[in-house]
Parts: sequence; structure tokens; C-alpha cells
Amino acid sequence: MTPSDYDVVVVGAGNAAFCAALSARERRERVLVLERAPEDESGGNSRFTAGLFRIVYNGVDDLKRVIPDLSDDEIARTDFGTYTAEQFLDDMARVTEYRCDPDLTELLVKRSLPTLTWMREKGVRFTAAWGRQAFNIGGRFKFWGGLTVEAIGGGPGLVDGLTQIAKKNGIDVWYSARVVSLLADDTGVHGVRVKKDGKTVEVRAKSVVLAGGGFQANPEWRARYLGPGWELAKVRGTRFNTGDVIKMALDIGASPVGNWSGCHAVAWERNAPEFGDLAIGDQFQKHSYPWGVYLNARGRRFVDEGADFRNYTYAKYGRVILNQPGQFAWQVFDAKVKGQLRDEYKIKQVTKVTANTLEALVKKLDDVDAEAALKELQAYNRAVKTDIPFNPNVKDGRRTEGLAVPKSNWANTLDTPPFEAYAVTCGITFTFGGLRINTDAQVVSTDGEPIPGLFAAGELVGGIFYFNYPGGTGLTNGSVFGRIAGANAAA
Ligand SMILES: Cc1cc2nc3c(=O)[nH]c(=O)nc-3n(C[C@H](O)[C@H](O)[C@H](O)COP(=O)(O)OP(=O)(O)OC[C@H]3O[C@@H](n4cnc5c(N)ncnc54)[C@H](O)[C@@H]3O)c2cc1C
Repeated sequence: MTPSDYDVVVVGAGNAAFCAALSARERRERVLVLERAPEDESGGNSRFTAGLFRIVYNGVDDLKRVIPDLSDDEIARTDFGTYTAEQFLDDMARVTEYRCDPDLTELLVKRSLPTLTWMREKGVRFTAAWGRQAFNIGGRFKFWGGLTVEAIGGGPGLVDGLTQIAKKNGIDVWYSARVVSLLADDTGVHGVRVKKDGKTVEVRAKSVVLAGGGFQANPEWRARYLGPGWELAKVRGTRFNTGDVIKMALDIGASPVGNWSGCHAVAWERNAPEFGDLAIGDQFQKHSYPWGVYLNARGRRFVDEGADFRNYTYAKYGRVILNQPGQFAWQVFDAKVKGQLRDEYKIKQVTKVTANTLEALVKKLDDVDAEAALKELQAYNRAVKTDIPFNPNVKDGRRTEGLAVPKSNWANTLDTPPFEAYAVTCGITFTFGGLRINTDAQVVSTDGEPIPGLFAAGELVGGIFYFNYPGGTGLTNGSVFGRIAGANAAA
């Protein structure tokens, strides 16, 4: 086959790209996936994920469409609850402060379950996220936060599964193949220019689907669009999502849209490397802050650690940490909650100190005003409404009173040694601004018309997430719009 002979070319090899390729392959013979990374680093941010997907389900029967091997015993000892379309829509509207594109969001929500069912039928395997998203209450697991489904094997399992399924379906995949520009003229897009093994070649195609990720791995673009200081953030995932693919579409007249100064960013190990490390995956994250308190370099608390369930605050608190002096913070816990700390606190690569008194602990917090920190922790302890019982399964209203920075739920006193503290900085996950698409996943030009032959899906699409993000929506977003993009690109 000559390299100019494809029906659909897909740029990227993450979750959105493979969903697009598989969907296109249902209608067309010749589908090519172009991946900038070498094979052992392929799969984009999707490979770094926990593989969690936020989907609508109205009960166990819906879940069984995605997880057909759920056993009777597992069902008997789990309260899966429901996560309705209304809840998903409400969550999207609330966390994005009512900015999310209503038409795209409705599609995202409505197609979430059918799309995962389709992926299951293709051969992708899912399970319930008992380890991450459920609490064991008296021997029975109860799911919380609307996030119940995960890919078996997490992100690596998802990407390896999709890759194998794609290859089995006759889809070509080229690695170390960096797309550098689009072949476009007045009639639309006709292919791509790709640099492979040091040579630039043209690959002609009837349609192109862009699924090349955001610009979070580009420090210059981060400072330019997210603002000063963002070049100092650590990148949680792939080093290959540098905004190339967004730029090549803008260069031929695609419209930018969405929250270009916004991104998903979390608390991340302070001494983590510049980019994600596949051997560690997402374990540099530190998501148990609702059970403790944060301190900055001045020894002060600066955010309501218990404002909401972790799922609804973690993605915006990275920015809050970046804005602290020195771009770091410490998370402090006492022994009462130690058993509740997530697995990521148990890895070797943590910056952690322990002590038997708060006086001793604050002296061990690198770069922190110890005297101010001790006063802050003592004031916090005095402010906790201890008459309200602690309950991690609900927003328990166990709060502080009279503090300038309140803690609204799960406010435990720090009184039981040993005390532990973990140093974190800001880890950026992905950027929110990107390309404008319509409900057919066609890329729309700055004149408002779809660009013939050009489609997009996943992280590089703008208009869906603003300010914040409901955990597990990134993969669902890539799958839903990847599938739509692939189908329309092949039509
Ligand atoms: C540590 C971590 C944990 C996460 N956990 C979750 C989770 O559990 N659930 C969830 O929903 N989301 C999670 N996310 C977010 C999620 O990863 C993304 O929303 C999603 O994977 C984006 O998928 P995508 O296919 O659009 O992009 P990606 O998976 O990033 O794929 C983009 C692809 O484009 C390629 N590419 C870039 N430039 C070029 C070019 N010029 N030419 C060719 N190829 C190019 C890249 O190499 C890559 O393969 C997590 C992210 C991180 C970093």
C-alpha cells in the first residue's frame, strides 16, 4: 500500500484516537493511526490513567452491559447505587460553572453508557473500581461520586487492549510518526505531512481525525496561555502532548474555543520528575487531603480541604498549590486517618516526614515557617466542631468554625500520633482550551463552518471543561467523541 492511500488517518494513539479508528474501521477498509511517540511510550495520557470512566447507569443491569462478568456474589456485597443522566449533567454544569457547551455535554452524557457498551463489544474489558471509588461499610462496598467503571489493567490495560483490537481489525499503526501539518486547500483537508525516521512524507486520506492531546507538556504554551508560573508545574502524563496538533488545525483556520487559561491540575509529589513516569503512573498524585489539612510555606492553611468529595475538587486544587509561595504545600494527617490514606501514599517515591508531636512535625517540614505552622494547626484543632460525627461516605458537615479558611466537611482534629506530612506541588494533567467541534465532531472554522474532511476528539477539543472537571470524564469524552468522529470521518 502506498502511503497516500488511506480512507481515514487518525492523529494520536490514545483512547480517543483508537475509538475513532475502530469506529471508522466499521465503515472503511483503510485506516491509519499515526503516533508521535515510540511504541514503548505510546498511548498518550490515556496510558497514564487509572482507566476510570464516568458513565450514566441506572442500576446494576446497566453496569452489566459494560461489565458482563460481574458475579452474583459481587453484586450482593456491593451497593452500586445509580448515576443518572441528570446527575452527570448537573455535575458537568456545576463544576464548570455553567460554561460547558450544552450540546456537546448532552452528547457526552447520553452516549456515555452506549459508547462503553460498544467498547466492551469490541473487546475492551472493564471492571468496577472497588479499590478506588468504594468504601467498605460493615462488609458491604458502597460506591460514591458517580465513578464506578474502570478499564482492567488501568490506563496501560486500556491502551494495550485498544491497540491489539485495532491491529486485529486491520488498522495500521505507525509509531515515531510525528504529524507536522495538514494537507489542506480551499476544498478541505486531504491528509497529513508526517515525519517518520527522519523523513517527511505526505499521507493522503479522505478524512483526518485529530486526537493528539492538549498542550500541557509545552512549558512555553503553558506560560503563554495558562499564565505566569505555569511553566513551573510538573507534567503528570505524556511528554508528547505539546499542542502541535492544535496548532496545525489553527494554522488552516480552525476555531479555538473554551477555557484556554484553564487546565486540570492536582496535588502531585513535590520531587516528581518533569514529565510522567510510566513505572509510577498516577501514583505521584496525593488525593487524600479531605482527611487532613494543607499548610503552605508561611505555615498557613489556604484552601477548604473538605469543600466537596475529592472527585469534585482535586482537579482545581493543583492551581491553588501552584499559587502558593514556592509552588508547594504539605498535607498533614494524624494516625486516626492513616488507614484511609489512598495507596499512592504508600509508594517509596514520596517526600514524607513523621513525628510524635505537632511541635516536632512542623520542624521537619522543609521550607515552612515552623512557628506559624504550629499556631495554625493548634487554631485549626480548636475550631473543629467535634460534636458532629465524622463520616467519610457523605458530606458529613463536620466542620471548623471561625477560621478565615474553613474546612467544611471531614474536619478531624490532629491529635493522635504519629503525625505524617507529605510534600506536594502542582501536577498538570491536561489543558481545557482547544479546537471547536460540532456535534458531528467536525472541526469548525473561525468563519463558523465545518472544515471538510477534518474531525477531532479528546483532550484537544475545547468548550467542554472549564475551571474544574468531574473525575473520570476525560476518557469518556475521548471515547464518545472519538467514536462519533471516526464514524463521520468514514461516512
Ligand atoms: C496521571 C493521569 C491520570 C489520569 N486519570 C484519568 C482517569 O482515571 N480517568 C479519566 O477519565 N481521565 C484521566 N486522566 C485524563 C486522561 O488521561 C485524558 O483526558 C485522556 O487520556 C485524553 O485522551 P486523548 O486520547 O484525547 O489524548 P492522549 O491519550 O494524550 O493521546 C494523545 C496522543 O497524541 C499523540 N500526539 C501528540 N502530538 C502528535 C503529533 N504531532 N503527531 C502524532 N501524534 C501525536 C500523543 O503521543 C498521544 O498518543 C488522567 C491523566 C493523567 C495524566
